Amino acid sequence: MAYDFDLFVIGAGSGGVRAARFAAGFGAKVAVAESRYLGGTCVNVGCVPKKLLVYGAHVADELEQAAGFGWTLEEGHFDWGTLIANKNREIERLNGIYRNLLVNSGVTLLQGHARLTGANEVEVDGQRYTAEHILIATGGWPQVPDIPGKELAITSNEAFYLKALPRRVLVVGGGYIAVEFAGIFQGLGADTSLLYRGDLFLRGFDGSVRTHLKKELEKRGLDLQFNADIQRIDQLDDGSLKATLKDGRELVADCVFYATGRRPMLDNLGLENTGVELDARGYIRVDEQYQTTAPSILAIGDVIGRVQLTPVALAEGMAVARRLFKPEQYRPVDYQNIPTAVFSQPPIGTVGLTEEQALEAGHKVQIFESRFRAMKLTLTDIQEKTLMKLVVDAETDKVLGCHMVGPDAGEIVQGLGIALKAGATKQQFDETIGVHPTAAEEFVTMRTVTR
Ligand code: FAD
Ligand code: NDP
Repeated sequence: MAYDFDLFVIGAGSGGVRAARFAAGFGAKVAVAESRYLGGTCVNVGCVPKKLLVYGAHVADELEQAAGFGWTLEEGHFDWGTLIANKNREIERLNGIYRNLLVNSGVTLLQGHARLTGANEVEVDGQRYTAEHILIATGGWPQVPDIPGKELAITSNEAFYLKALPRRVLVVGGGYIAVEFAGIFQGLGADTSLLYRGDLFLRGFDGSVRTHLKKELEKRGLDLQFNADIQRIDQLDDGSLKATLKDGRELVADCVFYATGRRPMLDNLGLENTGVELDARGYIRVDEQYQTTAPSILAIGDVIGRVQLTPVALAEGMAVARRLFKPEQYRPVDYQNIPTAVFSQPPIGTVGLTEEQALEAGHKVQIFESRFRAMKLTLTDIQEKTLMKLVVDAETDKVLGCHMVGPDAGEIVQGLGIALKAGATKQQFDETIGVHPTAAEEFVTMRTVTR
């Protein structure tokens, strides 16, 4: 049977665009449908605008440090409207780049909501298209627990478009987004509390990293409230919001920001017209080659709920394009040793196993840990400490994990990711010449076993 397209991609986000572009480059006839914004979550309401706001918040640190270097500055004034307008302009520029990337690689771009009407058929705005393969890359959406008053809360989607910086903010959650946005709001001057339901935030990260970041955030005056969960939200007469906690306490703020995870975006996708099944958590079930339970339909990215990071969605998109249209170049995605950063203030950079994971996996571990005040701060009164940690297999000498909390952690950990992928040993770390004077050199000069 002749199909309209070789590949029909639903969603022009990180994974979908990568798969579409490369499939077209390999000679396939490709269409992409996008209902909302080119570039998806990362470009529009994720990584990119988030990082721009983090940079904005970080300026406050630079201003605080300036006096130590001899600079006298006038009283600073921050204007949220300017930051958001500039951010929006940059996002529009990126939207245009994504459009050009697709169109110039020969992909047919369809603007509108796509709905599966069969295992080889998609409907966009009343028009039906057939395709030999269909790729679902519809991403995720913020999830807010079902409590009274939840409609008064915002999520990351809305935070990027707030008309003004709220004076008092309650951030709910203890994952990437909660920690990053607590830093943004506080850095820009809002009176910020972070409420997390458990004992310590950032579950799954290395224990030393979690406790170190907690201390550093507290030093900065961020109000961290653990074992705290909101039961209901009410609007007061003056427009502010009252959050009643499960322990009966009441907190008043101008904004309640929920970052309690993301669900797969399956709204009105028409999965019922196909044989596509979901897994126990509600994400699309796929095999190791991203094939769903319907043989002609594949899925990648946040909608399969594996590792919800842009570079992972990109790698999955690449793998799908190669598997379908350039099988001789196909290589499976390596989910080991994925480097990642939390752009908190100070940021976290991490790759490989945490100490807890290494022990659980049965490794005998040697831990190397270093805490120091960054050189840049020595001319200032700021007492922030950087943490660096190596988790080493005591038997093979292999470095299992690298963890850092401190300036530029994300930049530093990218290179360490290559070392871990190459299977580097602690001896090879030790034999690597440092770059002096940097913080990063500490990763190759830690000699004393801490534990
Ligand atoms: P998406 O990028 O979400 O793209 C899905 C696209 O599909 C969307 O454009 C959507 O409009 C479209 N779509 C959905 N349904 C339909 C339909 N039926 N028809 C047509 N189109 C449809 N990751 C990092 O690596 N680093 C970071 O710093 C980082 N920061 C983040 C900050 C925030 C606030 C958030 C929310 C996420 C962040 N992420 C970050 C995660 C990253 O954004 C996602 O992992 C990534 O975007 C997933 O890509 P995707 O292709 O699976 O989906
Ligand atoms: P996460 O899954 O990282 O964190 C969700 C947080 O919300 C957890 O602390 C969780 O607690 C808590 N939570 C979940 N349900 C509830 C509930 N009902 N009530 C109270 N608390 C709850 O999700 P995020 O929303 O922060 O981010 C989504 C994903 O996006 C991340 O996992 C990451 O993959 C990606 N991302 C990546 C970034 C980066 O690379 N820098 C930045 C931002 C997002 P508990 O731990 O107890 O379950």
